[in-house]
Amino acid sequence: MCGIVGYIGNRKVINVLMNGLKRMEYRGYDSAGICVLENDDLITLKKKGKVSELESLVDESSFDSTIGIAHTRWATHGFPNDINAHPHSDNSGNISIVHNGIIENYMSLKQGLIQSGYTFKSDTDTEVLAVYIGALYEKTNDLEHAVRLALSEVVGTFGLLVLSKTEPEKIIGARRGSPMVLGVGDDEYILASDATAIIQYTKQVIYLSDNEMAIISKDGFTTKTIDNKATKNTIHEIEFNIEQLEKGGYEHFMLKEIFEQPTTIQDAFTGRLLADKGNIKLGGLSVVSEKLRNAKRIIITACGTSWHAGLVGEYMIEQLAGIPVEVEYASEFRYRNPVLYPDDVVFAISQSGETADTLAAVHEAKQKGCTVLGIVNVVGSSIARETDAGIYIHAGPEIGVASTKAFTSQLAVLSLLALYLGRMKNLSQLDGKKIAQEILQIPDKIKSIFDHSDEIRAIAKEYSSAKNFIYLGRGYNFPVALEGALKLKEISYIHAEGYPAAEMKHGPIALIDENMPVVFIATHDEIYHKIISNIEEVRARKGKVIAIANEGDTEIARVANHVIYIPETIPMLTPILSVIPLQLLAYYMALELDRTIDQPRNLAKSVTVE
Ligand code: GLU
Repeated sequence: MCGIVGYIGNRKVINVLMNGLKRMEYRGYDSAGICVLENDDLITLKKKGKVSELESLVDESSFDSTIGIAHTRWATHGFPNDINAHPHSDNSGNISIVHNGIIENYMSLKQGLIQSGYTFKSDTDTEVLAVYIGALYEKTNDLEHAVRLALSEVVGTFGLLVLSKTEPEKIIGARRGSPMVLGVGDDEYILASDATAIIQYTKQVIYLSDNEMAIISKDGFTTKTIDNKATKNTIHEIEFNIEQLEKGGYEHFMLKEIFEQPTTIQDAFTGRLLADKGNIKLGGLSVVSEKLRNAKRIIITACGTSWHAGLVGEYMIEQLAGIPVEVEYASEFRYRNPVLYPDDVVFAISQSGETADTLAAVHEAKQKGCTVLGIVNVVGSSIARETDAGIYIHAGPEIGVASTKAFTSQLAVLSLLALYLGRMKNLSQLDGKKIAQEILQIPDKIKSIFDHSDEIRAIAKEYSSAKNFIYLGRGYNFPVALEGALKLKEISYIHAEGYPAAEMKHGPIALIDENMPVVFIATHDEIYHKIISNIEEVRARKGKVIAIANEGDTEIARVANHVIYIPETIPMLTPILSVIPLQLLAYYMALELDRTIDQPRNLAKSVTVE
């Protein structure tokens, strides 16, 4: 949430900043702004709305500066308007900052500053930090010292960049709880919320740690802790390439990412699935293999779509390995007193690896002495670095705000994990081999579902005026029902609820009438006939049934208004297939309704605030 970027080097900074904002726009699109140091003066331009709105204000040819900072906002404090847009400055106008995160004690700091005669223009927490740094600078005459003093008083989270015309040769960056990556080029340096803003200039990056600062100048960079102790860093190479950040001919990133899934699933299991032995090799977990073997319980913690993946993971691990699993919303986990034992193993799932609630749950579990492992997509992210070990899902950059390919890659990795744990426990080699063979077939099976895109689009057209939807599934398809409903809500703004199909009769059935579309995920498994009865119950009340069923199912068309057929696989892998038509259904509904599919209202990618 929120993207910040700062550059110092020999290029025209305006191009680097505007390009960085466009790359990171998926992180927030309430407003955008820049501040550059031009002829010894700070020039700030900022505008409500998307980066394109800011672009219309910026005449790139009129800037020569080679140093500046920029921000794309996801508002937490104060309306998304021009005044609340970042950058914010101190009262002298000499210091400018951009900020990702929340200053929780901004109110008490603000009152103290007002009493001392300082004034404020915006409603943001960020401006309080800017004014506070300015006030401390008046006393210290040392920007870095002022920033450190201010940050030691601040409660909350920040990824922060500070630029000052009184110390014009540097940009100071700092982070606590929000991500920050330092790009190291030849006589040029970039600080940004993520590597997408950096890759065009250098592939060499340093992932800053929590409570770390970086000071960049044309001559180099230094890193230290916020309390001024030198830190050591390792330079990493960015693993994706710039083409992966383009739409590649698709109308939307979301559609591109849906269609990438045969490849991304393949990437998740390549080198890990030893199909002829029925075994799994997860190099990242080798250091904790004994902990996993002896785990009495596994806790999966996550938010949103990743939480749905966790629910599927629960069923998979309990089925194959017989280890009890609990799935917790990360946001709840931290704020109660969870009973945790040192031999519990906690898995944190997050696409970005920066989800603030999930990161906080990681800290809580570590505090209680558990082994904490990550399942994340973004290499070098906070969760990847702060967990004891983990598994990357290797889905590549996901730009569409509504997660698609990351979800199915999370499921693929969870199926590998379940098989890995199962083979450590009682699962036979023969059964391991059978499951591995099924996993190998998944990419081709996904491809065949894409052949139904036109049918799905026609269904979307027919139901796009519906005000509500219900999604129902049982067993492994229950979390898929939740995910299907979430996708629809996120990008089409149609209200949707997911339920276990059998729960319908305990309440939601009251909602069924001739205007209610009900999506049933009714693939072949041991409870197939029960779900057919649930479909009959909806039909008896005139609900409209859209069923996801297996190819060759001749019974379902008798009870459903529409059927979307998918290939059959074993139940534990079914969610990877059954979610695909639901992703497409949500996409085409949103397209019918002319929504901003890649950037749905009020949302942003990578939820770095609690
Ligand atoms: N709290 C700040 C604001 O509302 C920054 C939010 C963000 O991370 O985008 O302006």
